[in-house]
Amino acid sequence: MEKYLPDIYQKSIYTIDYSKLLSRGIKCILFDLDNTLVPTHENEAPTKAKDLIISLKQKGFKVLIFSNSPKRRVKKFQKYFGLDAIHFACKPFQNKFKKAIKDTGYNLNEIAIIGDQILTDVAGGNKAGITTILVNPISNKGHLFFKVGRFIERKKIKKLRDKDLFCKGRYYD
Ligand SMILES: [Mg+2]
Repeated sequence: MEKYLPDIYQKSIYTIDYSKLLSRGIKCILFDLDNTLVPTHENEAPTKAKDLIISLKQKGFKVLIFSNSPKRRVKKFQKYFGLDAIHFACKPFQNKFKKAIKDTGYNLNEIAIIGDQILTDVAGGNKAGITTILVNPISNKGHLFFKVGRFIERKKIKKLRDKDLFCKGRYYD
């Protein structure tokens, strides 16, 4: 299996077919925070993100924020969205993945992660054995560390593209 290849690739969290996820047996969604649910450099979440979270809960999903960001930032959005959250998740490392998965009480095939980065969200989710969903980042702004990550990511994406497994903008589910 390709470590960096997502199971599903969509333009944004708003173009994912959540009913299809339900029919695949997904019951629990781990949401990356920055650049997936909210723009990295903003302190306000879009109203439509909250509407989406509410509709997912109504559909019966268990939803969690699973973020590498520090506690202060995650707490703020956790409150806003009314969700359980794990901060400083250290994705792609497995410690908090394992703990989060165990704490949900769901089986691996019932859990999906949605995120904007293949190096953290997809690689970590694949390693953990859950369904991985990649979306395009909301914003391209970022500090240096972020840019370095993006540079490495572009190289991984190029490798996948050379094998004709993945192409930016060619969505699938
Ligand atoms: Mg992110």
